Amino acid sequence: MTQAWPTYPAPRKLALVVSCVDYRLLDDIVSYLHLDNMTNRYYHFAIAGTALGLVDCLREGDFQPPTDQEIADRERMNIRTKDELLHKFSCWSSTFKDQVAAGLLLTKNQISDIYLIQHENCGAFRIYLDKNIEERKDTPKKRQEYELEMHKWYADQVKKGIAGTAEKVADELGYCKSPGEINVHTLFMTLRGEVIDLSTLAGNGHKDGGSKKKPKDKKSPKKDN
Ligand SMILES: [Zn+2]
Repeated sequence: MTQAWPTYPAPRKLALVVSCVDYRLLDDIVSYLHLDNMTNRYYHFAIAGTALGLVDCLREGDFQPPTDQEIADRERMNIRTKDELLHKFSCWSSTFKDQVAAGLLLTKNQISDIYLIQHENCGAFRIYLDKNIEERKDTPKKRQEYELEMHKWYADQVKKGIAGTAEKVADELGYCKSPGEINVHTLFMTLRGEVIDLSTLAGNGHKDGGSKKKPKDKKSPKKDN
């Protein structure tokens, strides 16, 4: 498989990596960051759904309240309304902000990049938003585009605020980071460990002339979780 190299400059300082808690891609994340010149130079914050758990609003139509049967069958979290869900996520955002502050303090403001790593077949989107969210399109190609579009939407929402969050935290700590000093990379990892740069996709999930990159040899697909 031909892979383009990342289009953004490799970070020169330290990074904060935000990924999902999913156990299937832990090795692939480490491999990708190794190839991105980041071996042992990042803090790793893991949270279910990555960007999904850090948003303060949801994309229209994504949330479907769990049915009684889904709850009885333990297929969804017991969250019946959008407001309940966003309240839960606001706690996660607050924790994330504390972790950004800890990282900046420990590194004396040396974090220059933040990686937001979404991934394929993310269980968080199914248990929080809709058990059948990946089945909304009728062909594999349309489902893949829909999945990319969805992850891009949530990653972009968080990206809009995340650099500002880091700069605000740095300012509170007395570091006075200037706007735009933190680079935020929005990425999507497939179950084979391929990495797609979401910033190179158009809003509909189609490629926008950007890159697709893979850190190591193709592996067998990971099992479902
Ligand atoms: Zn996940």
